[in-house]
Amino acid sequence: MILPSGLPAKDCALCPRLVAYRHANQSAQPDWFNAPVPCFGDPEARLLIVGLAPGVSGANRTGRPFTGDSAGDLLYTTLNKYQFSKGVYDKRSDDGLHLADCMITNAVRCVPPQNKPNRAEIDQCRVFLQARIATMEQLQIILCLGGIAHDSVLRALGVKLKDAPFGHAARHKTPSLTVYDSYHCSRYNTNTRRLTTQMFEAVFAAIRARLDR
Ligand code: SF4
Repeated sequence: MILPSGLPAKDCALCPRLVAYRHANQSAQPDWFNAPVPCFGDPEARLLIVGLAPGVSGANRTGRPFTGDSAGDLLYTTLNKYQFSKGVYDKRSDDGLHLADCMITNAVRCVPPQNKPNRAEIDQCRVFLQARIATMEQLQIILCLGGIAHDSVLRALGVKLKDAPFGHAARHKTPSLTVYDSYHCSRYNTNTRRLTTQMFEAVFAAIRARLDR
């Protein structure tokens, strides 16, 4: 299940419910990616962004995090505005977009039914999040999109949740890194204005200022 690189195999079977959903999607949509979605970005990056899990018709279809559904629209527009990407995001994994000093992954690599991974699945997939963090030698900042990503990142770093509660635009110092939080840039959150463009950009402005100082 775990490749020597620390990445999940395309047929990773550690989460039975997600494997069953993967197989159903493979049958229904054989042209889709339908596998654990790999990280996207710069291995030498100082910034790692951690989302929740692939969307069924987004990253699960295209094979690239936050690509192909509405969750990527605000994220990639904002990354471009704060010089964390080069090229034009066009909702396709072959759109030529490159990330600069930035890497994106998810707390859970496989698409969950109704976008809701359960606790066992989040815990199971953390080994791959920890492997990602461990291989990024220049890493300084992790941005967590949503409370589930926040909790899994803190557990991956060995930080007690009570010592660093989730909050939009919160910043937490850990022994090794700085962790920022944002509400997830999902369509639900942007449509309900729980997360506005201005709120999201303010988080990235703070991260950019910290990296540039
Ligand atoms: S969610 Fe992670 S641990 Fe679970 S099957 Fe997918 S890659 Fe494996």
